[in-house]
Amino acid sequence: MECALCSETAVVDQPYAGVHLCEKHFRRSVDERVRRELHRQIPRFPGGTIAIALSGGKDSSVALVETQRYFGRRPNVKLVAISVDEGIAGYRPPTLRAAERLTTQLGIEHRIARAQDELGTTTDRAAVSLPTTIPCSFCGVWRRRMLNDLAQRVDARALVLGFNLDDLAQTILMNLARGDLRRLSRMAPHRHRQPGLVPRIAPLADIPEREVYLYALLSGLPFDHGECPHAARAARNVYREVVWRLEEEVPGTRHSLRRTHRELVDGGFLERVGAPGLCISCGAPSAGARCRACDYLEQARSATAPASSGAT
Ligand code: SF4
Ligand SMILES: [Zn+2]
Ligand SMILES: [Zn+2]
Repeated sequence: MECALCSETAVVDQPYAGVHLCEKHFRRSVDERVRRELHRQIPRFPGGTIAIALSGGKDSSVALVETQRYFGRRPNVKLVAISVDEGIAGYRPPTLRAAERLTTQLGIEHRIARAQDELGTTTDRAAVSLPTTIPCSFCGVWRRRMLNDLAQRVDARALVLGFNLDDLAQTILMNLARGDLRRLSRMAPHRHRQPGLVPRIAPLADIPEREVYLYALLSGLPFDHGECPHAARAARNVYREVVWRLEEEVPGTRHSLRRTHRELVDGGFLERVGAPGLCISCGAPSAGARCRACDYLEQARSATAPASSGAT
């Protein structure tokens, strides 16, 4: 198949756009969509530190490279990559090594927050002590808290996340299906500063997961391919499957879901949901009196974890 823009062989098809692209035009199209997203999400960045959440996987690695491409030449912008070690044996250590390699290659400062130090527990240990809870439930909220805390510690004005188009479409559909307008209104990318939260931006919001993967491969990024051992239990899996099937049937569904979300935000509809209050335990934004991170911590502490939990 030939590229739609030149006579080279295509490396990717984009059914939602009805085109095939060669490597050069594919890479350009990714760079251009990221540039547009960054311009839209932080149009007048005044300078300062930007933290990039780096897991060592393909998405955050591409987000880091693209953020450096966009901001790298501005002398008043400092980039700091931040990682979280949730304590997941066999999975997190190699991803952190990949993150270390990439930041060394790019010459970007890299900081790591460890769940054991920050929270006094790990995802592996909590998975054992809370066997009826899906690990992603506490792991996700704890990671968000640690990323936010670390972003605040490095004095970041924005926190870059590696969410791709598939991730966002799944989250939008999940929140709509659950009728959870509060979470829908708080989703990244953030348009406004929320008390206690470093605004999160998502440069890859317009790039399908498959294209992020291809971009990472073509760029030779040292990302890790491993999968978390707890991932099979994630509630998100069903939405991943549904979004994938919808996209197969009706190319462009992921873009439509995103557009729906954007129009709800732009129309002020989601603002009417109201801002969250603050957690009485930790002061973080919270829909209830206490945030979910504190609730899960309390549960994990009061449950007795066996000594041989396999935590890192
Ligand atoms: S898959 Fe779930 S348990 Fe594993 S790192 Fe992600 S959120 Fe945590
Ligand atoms: Zn081409
Ligand atoms: Zn709290």
